[in-house]
Amino acid sequence: MNTRRQRLAILGSTGSIGTSTLEVVALHPERYEVYGLTAFRRTELLLEQCRRFRPRVVVVPDAAQAPALREQLAAAGLATQVHTGAQALAELAAEPEVDAVMAAIVGAAGLRACMAAAAAGKRLMLANKEALVVGGALFMQAVQRGGATLLPIDSEHSAIFQCLPADRAQWNDWIDHIVLTASGGPFRTRAPGSLSAVTPEEAVAHPNWVMGRKISVDSATMMNKALEVIEARWLFGLEPSRIRVVIHPQSIVHSMVACRDGSVLAQMGTPDMRVPIAYGLSFPERIESGASRLDFTRMNDLQFESPDPDRFPGLQLAYDALCAPEGVTAVLNAANEEAVDAFLGRRLGFTGIHAVNAATVEALSGRLGTIDGLDALLALDAQARQVARQFIAARSS
Ligand code: NAD
Ligand code: MG
Repeated sequence: MNTRRQRLAILGSTGSIGTSTLEVVALHPERYEVYGLTAFRRTELLLEQCRRFRPRVVVVPDAAQAPALREQLAAAGLATQVHTGAQALAELAAEPEVDAVMAAIVGAAGLRACMAAAAAGKRLMLANKEALVVGGALFMQAVQRGGATLLPIDSEHSAIFQCLPADRAQWNDWIDHIVLTASGGPFRTRAPGSLSAVTPEEAVAHPNWVMGRKISVDSATMMNKALEVIEARWLFGLEPSRIRVVIHPQSIVHSMVACRDGSVLAQMGTPDMRVPIAYGLSFPERIESGASRLDFTRMNDLQFESPDPDRFPGLQLAYDALCAPEGVTAVLNAANEEAVDAFLGRRLGFTGIHAVNAATVEALSGRLGTIDGLDALLALDAQARQVARQFIAARSS
């Protein structure tokens, strides 16, 4: 074990992954020290986290939030510094005193900070899948050049990572294909014809996992799995034909590696994100996660089935985007973020999410310029959001 405690920056500490990360960290005060926390809106919770974990730095998006927060921190007897804005977020991710970064912001908003952590050679625990979906080759290049250690936190990718040998050079020879499991979400058995009328409340009620609202909607459309196919392409360096998806409603088998020799390796556990988070924190060691254990004597059934393309048309968009020119995955992600936001705001119906995603990709596919860096990617992200918003507005008028 390290003699010095690992210093952590937890980006998005007030979210579902962020709070679960702090739960695991709290179990191991001798191993981890919280250097920095960041939040978007829930500053009350951020303050509570500061009282408990005493970080040196917090980052919030808006300068207007800072004075009140500084006052409250001082009143609590804390010397925590308050920084604001996207630049401060990236600076925290690259801070020399930070050893490991938990990227738990939702959406492309986390991309710049993830790239900064990668370029600075951090141990980068990646929950923020959208950042990798948007960043693609550029993200992986930053990881490689910076000498970062990229550790997947998404349960499926952690499962695959846990099944693979430590030497990455062997991965290609080991793997025939990988199988990402998907729960199928709340609408797995619902008649496709009735999906247009579902409400945000129904869509975020996931049967197995408690998660942020955006990823919960993504699970209901299976766009979450679509993003995960793209994420897997980059994390494991696999062509799309070697990435398969199977529905497994119990969420016990978190994903599988089908090896060259016909052997299939699976990682299992109760559906609890503290397990992949603990592995990201401790790799290559293993530490207590706090998750309850699997009891095989009480498990009735493990089912597996193919995803129905009529019910979940979004999945194919990922495969198509991976075969399209660079940038299309970023367009797909941006459209989806806008469409989910509109759905949660009751400005778009549930089936409209796929329609907007497909239309935005179609509209921009033939018109992509070269993507030579992060700024070009962020400009494309902004352009795709604008196009998606037009489609959303057209559908609601
Ligand atoms: P969440 O909505 O619960 O939390 C998101 C966090 O990001 C919050 O701390 C919020 O303050 C912050 N944030 C949001 N918008 C921001 C912005 N524009 N700028 C800066 N900070 C911002 O989301 P979550 O469920 O914790 O998911 C986080 C990421 O992890 C997502 O990319 C999600 O896909 C991924 N993930 C989540 C789970 C899960 O079980 N929750 C599982 C696998 C992967
Ligand atoms: Mg997942």
